[in-house]
Amino acid sequence: YSENGSYSRALVAESFHRFLSTNTGRKLQDKVALITGGASGIGKATATEFINNGAKVILADIQQQIGQEAAKELGPNATFITCDVSKESDVSRAVDFAISEHNQLDIMYNNAGILCCNPPNIVELDMAMFDKDMSTNVSGAMAGIKHAARVMIPRGSGSILCTTSVCGMLGGLGPHAYSVSKFAVIGMVKCLASELSKYGIRVNCISPFAITTPLAMEHLSKMYPHVDAHKVEEIVNNLGVLKGAICETNDIANAALYLASDDAKYVSGHNLVVDGGFTSFKNLDY
Ligand code: NAD
Repeated sequence: YSENGSYSRALVAESFHRFLSTNTGRKLQDKVALITGGASGIGKATATEFINNGAKVILADIQQQIGQEAAKELGPNATFITCDVSKESDVSRAVDFAISEHNQLDIMYNNAGILCCNPPNIVELDMAMFDKDMSTNVSGAMAGIKHAARVMIPRGSGSILCTTSVCGMLGGLGPHAYSVSKFAVIGMVKCLASELSKYGIRVNCISPFAITTPLAMEHLSKMYPHVDAHKVEEIVNNLGVLKGAICETNDIANAALYLASDDAKYVSGHNLVVDGGFTSFKNLDY
């Protein structure tokens, strides 16, 4: 109540929000997040986790229909915008959309990725296909960081995330074009974490192990055209070194929630590896 006894709606709303974030354990209360590749797999699972933690989320994806359906399924705190991250103008427009809808952008998750260039060997590499992987996975992430920084720098805060891969940490794990693109994004995260640290903006990435999302399943069905999809799924789920566990989209969503939230307020330039230990040790019986 103000001095003359009338109450201020704005003050009540602010106190209510503060109460919610401190008393409900919601880690992203009133934060605004833009997630590229948000229509499916890791992006959609992360959007769900962010919304459950109080955030408003914009799903930005090249797939309009499934993106719109995903936003509808996630409820009033999700919106969808068509965006091809390989086009800088689309990424810029998605960031401007976040600002026009919510007046702020707190979290930018550069998660969209493709795996289309899969030559049997370097001699048969089609450079046009190689460029296609680079333009989505590398240039798309760079444009995301650039345009997020454009709106985060004036506010002096923000958390930027990218999805990389264990294929960007070791040679020989995935098709080389894909691996090269993910190695590049891990490097990009460290460079930009350094540049943006003086503005209070954190930049981190997550390197998942194999998960049976459409991206992985499409790639594997080309590699094993005669093996049925259930069998391929079984193969992927048995690749890991951690017995009794498989890597799931929720594991990455939880890692993204940690890095996006204030729990990670002193973490920047980090590659959070979610691989059950795969890149850390060699099991003798593996
Ligand atoms: P997914 O196929 O479920 O989702 C990828 C999403 O990215 C799709 O919705 C797709 O439409 C979107 N997308 C593709 N090109 C785009 C573009 N140019 N602009 C905007 N959106 C675009 O696959 P996922 O596994 O959830 O992939 C998400 C990220 O995780 C990718 O960067 C991928 O490289 C990475 N990753 C996946 C695995 C895995 O095994 N699934 C492992 C490590 C890393």
